[in-house]
Amino acid sequence: MDNDLISHVLILYTGGTIGMRITDRGYAPAKGFLQQQLRSMPQFHDPSQPDLTTPPSRLGRRIRYQIKEYDPLLDSVNMEFEDWVQIANDIAENYDQFDAFIVLHGTDTMAYATSALSFMLVNLAKPVIVTGSQLPLGEVRNDAVENMLGALAIAGSYSIPEVCLFFRSKLFRGNRARKVDASAFDAFDSGNFAPLARVGVDVSIQWSLVRLAAKNDLRVAPIIEKNVAALRLFPGIPVALLENVLKEPIRGVILETFGAGNAPDNRPEILRVLQEATDRGVVIVNCTQCMRGRVKSHYASGQSLADVGVVSGHDLTPEAALMKLAYLLSYADLSIEEVKRVMQTNIRGELTEEEQPHTSFRERAFVSSVAQILASSRNIEDVEAALYPVLMCAAVANDDVEALIRMVEGGADVNAVDYEGRTPLHVAAMKNAFLSAKFLLTHGADPLLTDRLGRTAIDEALRMESHSLLSLLRGR
Ligand code: ASP
Repeated sequence: MDNDLISHVLILYTGGTIGMRITDRGYAPAKGFLQQQLRSMPQFHDPSQPDLTTPPSRLGRRIRYQIKEYDPLLDSVNMEFEDWVQIANDIAENYDQFDAFIVLHGTDTMAYATSALSFMLVNLAKPVIVTGSQLPLGEVRNDAVENMLGALAIAGSYSIPEVCLFFRSKLFRGNRARKVDASAFDAFDSGNFAPLARVGVDVSIQWSLVRLAAKNDLRVAPIIEKNVAALRLFPGIPVALLENVLKEPIRGVILETFGAGNAPDNRPEILRVLQEATDRGVVIVNCTQCMRGRVKSHYASGQSLADVGVVSGHDLTPEAALMKLAYLLSYADLSIEEVKRVMQTNIRGELTEEEQPHTSFRERAFVSSVAQILASSRNIEDVEAALYPVLMCAAVANDDVEALIRMVEGGADVNAVDYEGRTPLHVAAMKNAFLSAKFLLTHGADPLLTDRLGRTAIDEALRMESHSLLSLLRGR
């Protein structure tokens, strides 16, 4: 068989129902059982092949896989943050040897796991697909075979460089999915974001939704901060309960509010307790209890939360919000204000910011600004000066310091803005272009200028988690 037609996938088997054995005391995990089952099933192993390898797909591609079985195998209700850090580290350790990764995990905490992994795996450029099942592979009637085959087919054949959750023929972005059914095979959904792919007769991928692969090297930024909490508001909630949840050592709380982010505004004691906590530096994030929709500030009862320092979680799921908050609070070098800003910024496709720049607007604005320049300019210098901002941003995007030097020597203003109101320093921060940023700063670039969306270059560095650039921009 032509080697080019074999994809190499590592399966990290952490536990969950999928590999459990039926015993007289109910389902229980059993060492080696999953591997033995897969080896005996023709869909998962072609006996003519030396290692675990699937038969060729319709497109002639086989998937050769290895299974790393965790010890102990865990029911996912017993998992803690460290278990997900270990999964992230195992992916990083084996990153270069495999084309893709599948994580077999229990369904109960799977949405937390996929959210946590999506944040911890910084600069991911390969697929990580998490799956499990409601009935084990060893049951005659089960959903495990379909979920495993779907996850393998996608992992082995498509370059979707994200942490995904595959269940019942749908591939979700991991930090958008939620467990919505305790017993149906259709157990997951993502209310605010369409599935990335559906597996039917054909595999149909929504490429326009798939994130681009990161260019920098993968690294794991572990979640170590455990002092976070989630609190679901309910009518008549005792203020003492809120007070207790917000006590030290808690550093961050996801407040699950009603509807579009509303909480009672006729109980000053509740607002007082929240205000006291935010004043002490506790980060409180407003997320809706609803399955669909987002936090908006068009009701007075929602606005009063913002007034006491609670930040908007936009359309984050409570699972993604909790893991993102724990993740950001784990970075020792972020200030509380920075954590709050990044909480409201999209870093892994986990939330939809209210104002998204529209591509066609962007292109139209660019073309019309060039047309204006050409129509009104009498000489080449004018055209040059007017195009410098755009050209400088393009040079920075390639970290082409030589081109930058030429333009600055030619009279270009380092703080000039392009058609999105971005300075070259914004672009340097977005692209992690360290040399360009250094050059621009020493030539008078201002890291506090805001673009059309009100973001500074420091905000962009925060969003991109370019920590070396961040300290450069902060001047330390
Ligand atoms: N309790 C199990 C778990 O989350 C349920 C499952 O796997 O579906 O590990």
